Formats: sequence, C-alpha cells, structure tokens
Amino acid sequence: MKPWEAYFRRVTPYVPGEQPQGARLIKLNTNENPYPPAPGVERALREMDAGAFRKYPDPAASGLTAALAAYHGLAPEQIFVGVGSDDVLGMAFLTFFNSGKPVLFPDVTYSFYPVWAELFGIPYETVPLDAAFQIRTEDYARENGGVLFPNPNAPTGCYMPPEQVEEILRGNQDVVVVVDEAYIDFGGTSAKGLLGRYENLLVVQTFSKSRAMAGMRIGYAMGAPSLIRAMQNVKYSYNSYTMNLPSILLGIASIKDDAYFRETVDRIIATRERAKVRFRELGFVCTDSMANFLFIRHERVPAEELFEALKAQQIYVRHFRGPRVSEYLRVTVGTEEEMEELYRFLERYLSRR
Ligand SMILES: *Cc1c(COP(=O)(O)O)cnc(C)c1O
Repeated sequence: MKPWEAYFRRVTPYVPGEQPQGARLIKLNTNENPYPPAPGVERALREMDAGAFRKYPDPAASGLTAALAAYHGLAPEQIFVGVGSDDVLGMAFLTFFNSGKPVLFPDVTYSFYPVWAELFGIPYETVPLDAAFQIRTEDYARENGGVLFPNPNAPTGCYMPPEQVEEILRGNQDVVVVVDEAYIDFGGTSAKGLLGRYENLLVVQTFSKSRAMAGMRIGYAMGAPSLIRAMQNVKYSYNSYTMNLPSILLGIASIKDDAYFRETVDRIIATRERAKVRFRELGFVCTDSMANFLFIRHERVPAEELFEALKAQQIYVRHFRGPRVSEYLRVTVGTEEEMEELYRFLERYLSRR
C-alpha cells in the first residue's frame, strides 16, 4: 500500500442495477419508465440554444423551482431541486441528521440509505418490517436522530396511506422525517398534504420514474421554508451549480405536459395490475405493489435460478442478496408487449421445471 492510501476514505458504494446495451434486450431491472418523456420535452430539446451553455446556469434553478411550486400548490421557498432524488436525499442526510442519535429506516428498503449514513458518519438503526413487508408505524415512536422511508417502499412496492405517515409524524415531532416518494405517482397519495401541519416533514420526489427522465437527473424536496433554506446552505457549501441548464429547461417542459404524464402513468398502472394476475397464475407470490415494479417469489423455483434463466434470454430483472429479499425478484413494469414476452418465457420455463 502506498503511504497516502492509508488516508483514503474507505466506503462500500451503492451498487446500481446493470445498464446492459443492446437493441433486443428487455430491461426491467432499474424501474425506468418504458415510455418516452412527454412530447413537450422533445420539443424543448430541439429548440434549445447551445449558445446558452456558455454561461453558468441559474444556481437556484428558479424556473424549475417555480414550475414545481405551482404544480404542487406550494411556495417556491418550499422547493429544493437536485441532481436526481439521490442528490436531494444525500443533502438531506448531511443537513438534518447531525444529532449523533441513530437515524431510523426499514430493514428492507432502498439500499442507498445505509451507504449515505456510512459516508457521512451518521449512526443508524434499521427497523424490521412485519412478516408481510409492511412498515409498523408504532416501531418508529422511539428516540432517534431522524426517520426516513420510501412510500411506496422499495423493493417491496408496499404503500402506506397518508394517515399512517401521519402516525409516524405524530410520534416524531422533534426530528426531521423524510418520506421518499420516488414511486408515489403510480397510484398513491403524497404526504405533501401534511406539510401545512408538520414543519419537520420533508417529501422527496423524482423525475426518474413516473416522468421517464432518469437520464436527465432531476429530483426535488418539498418542505417548510426553514428546512429548504438549511438544505440550500449545505448545497451552496459544496457545489452551487448542481442543476445543468438542459435539466432545468427539460424539467419545466415535463411539468407543463400534464396530460401525457397522466396518460402514461395510467398505462403503467394498468399493466401492473394485469401483471399481478398473470404472475399469480404462473405460481408467484406477489406483494400488492403501488409502484412501477413488482416484487415476486415463485412457490417452487428459486429467484436466483429465474434471474439467470431470464438473463440468458436477454430479459433483465433485479435480484437482491441479503436476508428476506433474496427469495424475491423485482420486476419493473415494462410495456404490455415486453410483459407478454416475459410471461411467455416464464410459462415455457416453469412448465419444464
Ligand atoms: C429510484 C429511486 C431513487 C432515486 O432516483 P433518482 O434517479 O436519483 O431521482 C430514490 N429513492 C428510491 C426509493 C428509488 O427507488
């Protein structure tokens, strides 16, 4: 080892799903949207003036912030935008979880949470979900340094109505509670309705899933102006220009094209509901997902075997290692055609097994 290497920060990074290349493959492994972004986004992209790239972008991304505020019926002071919700969530960890007490999040959840905690030296404790993968709200009513959970949860897809989110807030009035709503547009009701009553609530959303813009990296938080200001102070202490100009302009265009957004989200929800029926017919146990993915386990055939068999067919799904989840596959909802191809393969494979 070189002497300077002794002083490197040692971290175990988050491992994102594979991004395999190829025209024929069916990619159902990273919860991307199978449909293109809104036509208004493509139009804005064509009309973009490359000459504008000469200058730094607006550090506050005011245009995007204003569009999001109007869309959600909030004030611009209640919106923080970042480079995907991963950036926003990382900023939230840095900004809010400095009490030295452990942050609480579920044992089965987005695997980035423990990575940020380790990176920033924030203590944390995981809270077990119940046997049906549900969050037990009463388990969060204890001393902690902050609370964080996705709703719907990932990779289970399980959803809590706002009344249950409020139960967690009622038990945690002295710390910041972060609700990661990466999948809320696929049928759930946002906790943003609780912002008026809970100044310690931060709701985080993204353009990556429901708005089909994972490649543009746009995420945002909604919360009381005091929370948003604190996050901005941290952001401006690290990198003033997180949002690049195309992301700002194309994000605004996406918000404006609401009819297309609702139509594609409805299509994905319909495909998901049909998938629940089809998977059960094929012998899978399936959570009642409210997201754009399904969390499934076959009654007889191990998940790892199915994962490999699907991959050999150029069908990519996600398999997580680790207790409780390793028996399951997470399958992103694709187009109807992609899903039909998946069922056809599974039918053939399982009949010979
Ligand atoms: C996808 C995802 C995110 C991050 O998405 P970005 O692309 O960074 O906006 C955050 N939380 C959960 C639970 C996710 O599944």
